[in-house]
Amino acid sequence: MTEDAIIIGGGFAGLSAALQLARARRRITILDTGLPRNRFAAHSHGFLAQDGRPGGDILADARRQLAAYETVTFRDLPAERLEGERDAFSVVTGDGGRIDARRILLATGFEDQLPAIPGLAERWGKTVLHCPYCHGYEVGGGPIGVLARTAEAARFAAVVADWGNVTLFTNAVPEPDETDLAVLEARNVKLRPGRVTAITDGPGGLLSVETGPGIPTLVKALFVAPEARVRSSIPDDLDLTRKETPIGNILHTDDTGQTSLPGLYAAGDIALGAANISLASANGVKTAVFLHHSLIWPTH
Ligand SMILES: Cc1cc2nc3c(=O)[nH]c(=O)nc-3n(C[C@H](O)[C@H](O)[C@H](O)COP(=O)(O)OP(=O)(O)OC[C@H]3O[C@@H](n4cnc5c(N)ncnc54)[C@H](O)[C@@H]3O)c2cc1C
Repeated sequence: MTEDAIIIGGGFAGLSAALQLARARRRITILDTGLPRNRFAAHSHGFLAQDGRPGGDILADARRQLAAYETVTFRDLPAERLEGERDAFSVVTGDGGRIDARRILLATGFEDQLPAIPGLAERWGKTVLHCPYCHGYEVGGGPIGVLARTAEAARFAAVVADWGNVTLFTNAVPEPDETDLAVLEARNVKLRPGRVTAITDGPGGLLSVETGPGIPTLVKALFVAPEARVRSSIPDDLDLTRKETPIGNILHTDDTGQTSLPGLYAAGDIALGAANISLASANGVKTAVFLHHSLIWPTH
């Protein structure tokens, strides 16, 4: 039987999209490998009415509610390949099987590529953080670091200064220009030049940020905007049009969420760039509604 749609990725965008299509009584299959981007953080913040809940619990509730719809099928499998065209797609799954569908929604999320600094990766989502709106409040003020990966970090540091006393580790990235320097000064952001060589445990639960010989800087948390890469090889296999953003290369979509391949939609982080649970969910809802309309009008 041909599905109306296959949703590749059952994270916040994918499940939000699934709910709209399920409520329209459409037959859908959700393929998911169960690795949402925020899995490194114990709690999630900033999502209305869910503030402070573990992200996995929110997704588990969503899956439970979706499973009550008769037209929804969950398969805990990766989508390996996509073949075909609008109205006649076929997804090859990790077990070698095939599922046919009229439309596809890609919602595979990002994989974060952290700078290769010893001590950074194991603290990701705990004391090494990407987003002050998500986790800055819980840091509770005091000394905070911002690790530069690109020149955008100067602006990021000026924003993070609302959550504590910020030191910007320029980390061999070009120094901020005069305009940014003036803003950083007004925001009391200190600059620490030099390449960051390691992050270790400091006294009193602080992080020790080492910049070569000399005294390390102690901070309560270190913010960094990693390079985000679209998970899944399907966009490259199909040579989908991309778009550059400050955090990485994302999928280009039109106003309806459709990618450069007709009938293939994308939602969530991979279509938005810098996003969060609320934005990814909202984008999943919007894209699902347009995808649904495209099942009705041949020219849509
Ligand atoms: C450490 C950290 C903490 C965060 N904390 C917060 C927070 O507190 N609040 C907040 O609002 N935002 C937070 N975010 C951001 C948030 O995680 C993302 O914006 C959100 O998860 C994006 O939703 P998504 O559906 O696009 O992707 P995801 O939630 O990442 O879901 C993608 C899903 O697709 C699956 N998948 C991938 N490839 C395939 C494939 N080939 N086949 C099948 N399935 C596949 C994955 O396993 C995953 O389940 C945080 C991010 C990070 C990195």
